[in-house]
Amino acid sequence: MPKQIVINKQIIKPGESKEVNMNVYRLPTRTIMEIPVHVFRSVHEGPVVLLSAGMHGDEINGIEIIRQLLRGGHLSRLKKGSILAMPIINIISFLNHSRDLPDGKDLNRCFPGSQSGSLGSRIAYDMMNEIVPQIDLGVDFHTGGARINNYPQIRCVFKDNRNLELAKMFGSPFILNADYREKSFRLEASRKGKPVLVYEAGESMRFNEKAITEGVNGCLRLMKNLGMIDLELDPGPSLILNDTTWVRADISGMFRTTKKYGSHIKKNEVIGSISDPYGEIETTLKAPETGYIIGINNKPVINEGDALIHVGME
Ligand SMILES: [Zn+2]
Repeated sequence: MPKQIVINKQIIKPGESKEVNMNVYRLPTRTIMEIPVHVFRSVHEGPVVLLSAGMHGDEINGIEIIRQLLRGGHLSRLKKGSILAMPIINIISFLNHSRDLPDGKDLNRCFPGSQSGSLGSRIAYDMMNEIVPQIDLGVDFHTGGARINNYPQIRCVFKDNRNLELAKMFGSPFILNADYREKSFRLEASRKGKPVLVYEAGESMRFNEKAITEGVNGCLRLMKNLGMIDLELDPGPSLILNDTTWVRADISGMFRTTKKYGSHIKKNEVIGSISDPYGEIETTLKAPETGYIIGINNKPVINEGDALIHVGME
């Protein structure tokens, strides 16, 4: 018999599908903010998978990925297990078109949170106490921030339990070994023994078709490989990148690159240039290593030290 799923005192029985709210939060206007969780359950025992997006309110590709999955019909035809889909964790930041919470905090640095803390801390606490204990694994959807456009990639810690295996099941174009960040959802969930993959694709406040399609297909592949759905899908072979490095601006000015994100580059190859606005100074940027461009800064006016091109190495 599959285990009981209870969220915010609402029971979702095997075979049931329900939209529930994780908790209720009151905003200054007495407006009630609810964080919806769409629960889909098969009658048969199987993995409980969390799909969550909108941790950063301006990262909308993940929200669209989960919306398409909710519309697609696969979630309501599970052969086994359960899906908990949370399209927008950070509702208030989504409404504000903002990465961060109204008090300036980054929700993804509020974990594990506390019941009596700030709004971010309370949301983190509810995620850790209402959601995490009931799941077996999760995928948390993000995009690059501050005009960084990421090529679709799964970030996880290769040495940790099942991370790489699950990342391969998802099958995004790149899989990166990325250390945990203190106070992040991924770290705190891992401390409870629940692997959470972070999917990074596209940039904030901009729909990116490739990012969305790869995200939807990755979720369907993961579900298929976990035996939760029947579907014919290409296996989505991934390149495994063990290390990454940033190419940073050595001078301030205007940044240009002719390289496409996702492309292969050779060590010392010219991959971009920075010039002053007056046509007097110009420097070239060279690839620090042979590898792949996994992210590009789309901001044309940059300051020295800014991160410009993210390179991943096999
Ligand atoms: Zn994010």
